[in-house]
Amino acid sequence: MRIVVLGSGISGLSTAAELLRGRHEVIIVSATPITATTSFLAAAVWFPTAAGPADRVRAWSDTTFEHLAALAAAGAPGVRMCESTALYRDEPAVPAWSRSVRSFRAAGPGELPPGYGFGFRFAVPLVEMPTYLPFLSAQVDAAGARRVRRTVHRLADLADLSPDVVVNCAGLRAAELVGDPDAYPIRGQIVRVTNPGLSVSIRDEAHPLGRAYVHPRAADCVLGGSLEPGEWETAPDPELTRSILRRCRDLAPALAESQVLETLVGLRPGRAEVRLELDTVALPGIPVVHNYGHGGSGITIGYGCALESAALVAAL
Ligand SMILES: Cc1cc2nc3c(=O)[nH]c(=O)nc-3n(C[C@H](O)[C@H](O)[C@H](O)COP(=O)(O)OP(=O)(O)OC[C@H]3O[C@@H](n4cnc5c(N)ncnc54)[C@H](O)[C@@H]3O)c2cc1C
Repeated sequence: MRIVVLGSGISGLSTAAELLRGRHEVIIVSATPITATTSFLAAAVWFPTAAGPADRVRAWSDTTFEHLAALAAAGAPGVRMCESTALYRDEPAVPAWSRSVRSFRAAGPGELPPGYGFGFRFAVPLVEMPTYLPFLSAQVDAAGARRVRRTVHRLADLADLSPDVVVNCAGLRAAELVGDPDAYPIRGQIVRVTNPGLSVSIRDEAHPLGRAYVHPRAADCVLGGSLEPGEWETAPDPELTRSILRRCRDLAPALAESQVLETLVGLRPGRAEVRLELDTVALPGIPVVHNYGHGGSGITIGYGCALESAALVAAL
């Protein structure tokens, strides 16, 4: 089949990679280079966040965890397993995600910063997207994908490419192409700082100033964050930057030595439930597989969603 994949973020590229394995002809259409996608700026740590429905997200995230862990073991550029700590001020229940991660255990007192009485230690995949996304993109090109740079205003604009199937992986903008009223932005602001020597990823989902996370990478640390449903503003908010820095210094006091490199804002593709389904109505005579609305979990569930999308195409 000739398949047009709309979007070259993590969803589009992962889905294209699976379709190419099925020996289909794949054309990837996107309005922007990969460096301008939401996927490129994501903190990109495996952790189910703001995505549903719970049962499908659990299955997709487990599949994706094993895929990313295998990539890390094989030395794929930008993908590694990262020792992590989740911090709590009050005694927590064992989280549902504990079954999915590696080496889950209670943190010892020496592993907790001042002010925290409880914590869990575990290992999850961390993906440095500025390294991994170009690698995945090059793999897809090497497997024979054709590229078209174009802004699509409705799915019918793809008709001149004569697709047998369209796969809609256009992230936040996917919904407006098909008149889906259930999609909305979830604004996220992060701060990149120099790494003062941290190697363990740390998070406090219930910090009094707002959610806080510190993700150390090879050449920087990503500090977050915010999760603001319905907010379209893409300019950084300086007050929020100051708040993020303050929160993250509570998690890792060594960050007091770090310099701010950059503040970034992305709009996550929010939807109460990921839309992953076959649509035979949107384009008369051409089946459409939708794969969008991954919220704060596009990297956490992306591979599982790509496999399921490719299976829907294969079943046509
Ligand atoms: C600050 C922040 C931190 C995050 N951290 C994490 C994390 O730690 N873990 C995690 O799992 N997720 C995280 N996410 C969420 C994750 O980034 C998203 O879920 C994911 O990037 C969505 O990927 P996508 O490929 O569906 O969309 P995108 O990456 O947005 O790609 C959409 C593609 O569609 C194309 N497109 C859109 N509209 C059109 C059009 N009209 N015509 C042509 N092309 C079009 C674009 O050009 C682009 O190529 C984070 C997000 C943010 C903002």
